[in-house]
Amino acid sequence: MTRKWIDCRDFPDDTGCTLYLSGEEDHVLRAVAEHAVSFHGMQDTPELRDKFRGMLKEEEVGSSRA
Ligand SMILES: [Zn+2]
Repeated sequence: MTRKWIDCRDFPDDTGCTLYLSGEEDHVLRAVAEHAVSFHGMQDTPELRDKFRGMLKEEEVGSSRA
């Protein structure tokens, strides 16, 4: 299972938010969408979630290499 992460610092705005979220894609997307609405005043739309999905990065897993 690969976790994905997203870091608000990659998308600076005037809130100066530094939130970092990581987990399974669905969980991160849900959490980040709620955060975007409650903290950044964005609208939770399918387009917004698509945008976040495209911004997720894969967490590197220490020693296991394929
Ligand atoms: Zn944020």
